[in-house]
Amino acid sequence: MTSGNSKHNPYRSARYFISAHHLHQLPGDRGYEVAFAGRSNAGKSSAINTLTDQKSLARTSKTPGRTQQIVIFDIDAERRIADLPGYGYAKVPEKLKAHWREVMQDYFRRRRSLRGVVLVMDIRHIMRPFDEQMLAWCEASRVPCHVLLTKSDKLKRGPALAALHQVRKALPANATAQIWSSKDRTGLEELIDRLNRWYELTPTG
Ligand code: GDP
Repeated sequence: MTSGNSKHNPYRSARYFISAHHLHQLPGDRGYEVAFAGRSNAGKSSAINTLTDQKSLARTSKTPGRTQQIVIFDIDAERRIADLPGYGYAKVPEKLKAHWREVMQDYFRRRRSLRGVVLVMDIRHIMRPFDEQMLAWCEASRVPCHVLLTKSDKLKRGPALAALHQVRKALPANATAQIWSSKDRTGLEELIDRLNRWYELTPTG
């Protein structure tokens, strides 16, 4: 059965597995892991829900900093999505930010199964310090990064393409970018293609 999509979407099988406060609580460092990161409210949860075709797999929330854990979703026995905590609001206490930085830095340095990072940015608020930090960690760990410019439905095509161009110009060599909308599913096939490559999944169907 298809649901009107021309392309097979292997990410529909994603299931919640575990939430980790510390790196040692994560599943064994084997197989393939792709992390999703983004400032709070950038549209990360909505993007995961759209990708997996599930209404509420990742919690969509307007409360900044509510999720302080790494949430793991299993795609299959060897493949996982890691939903990283995202800050970006000034009201998050400095102590919490420092803790987050430490955990994230450790994650990037040590996680051998990390195959790529999807960095979610609101297309109207691009390349903020949070994003620069994530890109720098990806570069330092030699992990490829793919930027999703979310909420593109809020812009006309011209300004959306201008933002894409601006981001692409600013990205390091190991990073790519695309336009996305969770509202009208713009960019879904492009993201699936990118993830299939990182997860070494051959498209079927
Ligand atoms: P998160 O904090 O990064 O996980 O962001 P959420 O996914 O919870 O989204 C934050 C807000 O932006 C919510 O009100 C969403 O409904 C809205 N949103 C997310 N993605 C899109 C999108 O592609 N288009 C539009 N119009 N709104 C979006």
